[in-house]
Amino acid sequence: MLQRKKGIIVFSSLIVFLLSFVLNPVLSEEKPQVIPKESKRISEMRKAADAEIDALSGRLIEINDWMYHHPEPGFLEFEAAKMLCDELKKHGFEVEMGVSGLPSDIDRLKVVGGFPEDYSGPPGIPTAFKAKYKGRSEHPVIGITVEYDALRGDPPFHGCQHNMQGPTGIGAAIALAKVMEKNNIPGSIWVIGAPAEEVGPPAKALMAKAGYLEGADFMFRSHGTAQETLRFPGGFSARHIRQMKYTFHGKSAHAQQAWQGRSALDAVLLLFHAMDMMREHSEPQFRFHGIVSDGGEAPNIVPQEASALIWIRHLMDETPVGSLTPKKAREMIEKKVEALDNMAQAAALATETTVDIDHYGEYNPGIAVGVLNDIVFQCGVDYGGVKIGERAVPRHWEETGLATLVVPGAHVSIGTEGIPNVAGHSQENADITVCDAGHNSLILTAKVMAATGLRLLMDSKLREQAKTEHAMWLEKYNK
Ligand SMILES: [Zn+2]
Repeated sequence: MLQRKKGIIVFSSLIVFLLSFVLNPVLSEEKPQVIPKESKRISEMRKAADAEIDALSGRLIEINDWMYHHPEPGFLEFEAAKMLCDELKKHGFEVEMGVSGLPSDIDRLKVVGGFPEDYSGPPGIPTAFKAKYKGRSEHPVIGITVEYDALRGDPPFHGCQHNMQGPTGIGAAIALAKVMEKNNIPGSIWVIGAPAEEVGPPAKALMAKAGYLEGADFMFRSHGTAQETLRFPGGFSARHIRQMKYTFHGKSAHAQQAWQGRSALDAVLLLFHAMDMMREHSEPQFRFHGIVSDGGEAPNIVPQEASALIWIRHLMDETPVGSLTPKKAREMIEKKVEALDNMAQAAALATETTVDIDHYGEYNPGIAVGVLNDIVFQCGVDYGGVKIGERAVPRHWEETGLATLVVPGAHVSIGTEGIPNVAGHSQENADITVCDAGHNSLILTAKVMAATGLRLLMDSKLREQAKTEHAMWLEKYNK
């Protein structure tokens, strides 16, 4: 019996060991080479771009730190957008602010999602921008997306490290433009300023729908600091979200004679209770998040109006890889939305109130391009990124999904020495961006981004390969 137990223990340890290797293998102690070696000329250009970034580093860190101390929430990032645009203009980029061709109800949807009702500034998305540098030719166009919104709060704060994205992205873009200019390299560099990543409706998806990304051949984006340098395959991935607001209408009364009124807050509480019941019967990759955005005015008044903002999130990357197509994933999340709407109706019925339902934002599964991820990974390894490993799950370049269908791209995230493991969307996460390790990460990521851009600008074979792969995934996307 003991013998058998021992055997089981040895066998299960072996399985655990093998499983951990499959899930998170360290590629090798030696630097892996996953794409063909670059030409001598690309290496030279890469060094020139590094020197440009080193020369810019003081200013990039200054911008990063300024944004940390002056956080602005989504759709209201006026100072941050201006600062990035001014810097780009100084280095010869042509800048255009705002987005044309947005849906006519964009301002209403913003208010539904929590945008201040008393806002009196310009309508639409005035803090979006497109900055262009044109080299010897229009194409290939290498685009870099930057975000600069802080998390909402009182005061807002950079718990998602978006204060780093702008300086990282413009550092890479300016360096690329300078090297292209001095060496007569064909192509263009764009910087796309994408506001309000943290709120809905998702600005990047609206911008993509409005044709804002048309003409870009490839897009890159960074997202703050990282502890690991990872290789990701191509395929479908998702931070799949639906955003809803439920507004209940009841009847106010003195709380002492509550029978004369009907509480809209009761309906909100019932809705949350029902949502909690649904959690247990939902697949583990689902998340339900909500806040009471209006819970009434005072305890002695029966709340006449109350509302809740609720997001349903479906993490396709927490399902066994390849087991879900985007189409199937979409069907699954839509069923949850339908269930939640039914619960809201039921809560209204039970409390003798009425409910208005607003679906104000939608994020869809995205496409990850393995070749582009490989170029980023290779550059990350070459630049000394730490904790080199591999993931079996695809990772796409931005979270609204839609933009990844329009332009192939990759996310740039490079493991840097000394980055602590803290919770995302926390003050500790914000604080990393202004310490030495955070500053080193900013410069390292900018260099890797510029190196990746250069490789694509100067290697038509890899460009071709990336476009073919993107087209292949796109073809399978709706099947
Ligand atoms: Zn973020």
